[in-house]
Amino acid sequence: MHDTTLEKHGNPLMARTDSNAHLADSPNRAYQVCSRCIMDTTDPLIEFDSSGFCNHCNSFRNNLGRLWHPDEQGRRSLERIIEQLRLSGKGRNYDCALGLSGGADSCYVALKAAEWGLRPLVVHVDTGWNSEMAVSNIERLVKHCGFELHTHVVDWEEMKDLQIAYLRSGIANQDVPQDHAIFAGLYNFCIRNGIRSILSGGNTATEGIFPDAWHGNAMDSVNLRAIHRAFGQVRLRHYPTISFWKLYALYPLLLRMRTIRPLNYLPYDRDAAIAELQGACGWKPYGRKHGESQFTKLFQNHYLPQKFGYDKRRPHFSSMIVSGQITRDEAVRKLAEPLYESEELVADIDYLCNKLSISRANYDEFISSPCRSYTEFSNWDSRYRVMKRVQQFVERVTGRRHGVYG
Ligand SMILES: [Zn+2]
Repeated sequence: MHDTTLEKHGNPLMARTDSNAHLADSPNRAYQVCSRCIMDTTDPLIEFDSSGFCNHCNSFRNNLGRLWHPDEQGRRSLERIIEQLRLSGKGRNYDCALGLSGGADSCYVALKAAEWGLRPLVVHVDTGWNSEMAVSNIERLVKHCGFELHTHVVDWEEMKDLQIAYLRSGIANQDVPQDHAIFAGLYNFCIRNGIRSILSGGNTATEGIFPDAWHGNAMDSVNLRAIHRAFGQVRLRHYPTISFWKLYALYPLLLRMRTIRPLNYLPYDRDAAIAELQGACGWKPYGRKHGESQFTKLFQNHYLPQKFGYDKRRPHFSSMIVSGQITRDEAVRKLAEPLYESEELVADIDYLCNKLSISRANYDEFISSPCRSYTEFSNWDSRYRVMKRVQQFVERVTGRRHGVYG
């Protein structure tokens, strides 16, 4: 049996505050963990079949053929895509763009793009949270690949104000200010430079499973502005945003922008990819997922499990179990490892407080204040649902997929 208290909470250091416990578990629901992956009832919408398998891994397995092609078919598709990119880039400075965060997935795509002879415009959006290791990894990799790096630095005063507004709001997805700036900055920059194809490190093998109930859409600029209006203090003048119209109509349908996820056409194995990056240019692993961002590291490994009871390792390891990269037993062992060593945790909280000019007491208050849902603020969910229905209808009629942003 795997449904132990240790597995559920990971580490006693991380036991969430009692006042917020109701958000993670329905009071009428007994604790249950999937017998194939390790998703559990911390996802309030999880469903189990009679074999004890959850909707996440069942859906992953049912849709695997459509999403991930680690085989000969994938290899051939990828060759075709690379050829198309080369052709479309003839006579131009770049074949495509590549958003580089410094994380293993996007760095591996950059390494492969160089091997495939592609000439991407490499864009890094600096939101102010890069770890030193991330900066060094990006520099080493770009030099090794012979790429020119375009770095966009987000206005820090605005970014800081937005981060504090999000912390005050008490919602789960505190990564929105970073994620939105990264993607909006990248898409807007590509359009301005006439580039229509973007290589992304997004992949099904390590990210295929994720519970929707844990947070909303990071691209929702209506929600971002509503939260900032309620809790922010400075005006957002330079912070990059993208509207619903641009994201779902103008860019993908009229300007034909598309996101390509090469890792979905490869037998992508994260550990092997990291070893390859290390061998190629001395790239250094972060030790934990998203250690490239000081904020994301603390948010995912402390704020989220402490306040909401959400442990992002669960969906990540579950994806890796179903994609055959680790066994369930290995995942259970890894999940029992502490999310943080106590000294490192204190140092990381200090770093965040200094950077945001807040006190440790402020941070503790953000953790213990009531949990709120992003849906308590204006958002574009209803517009998105209508758009999805239209998109599905068009796809049925034309037989083509248009969901370029997945
Ligand atoms: Zn499952």
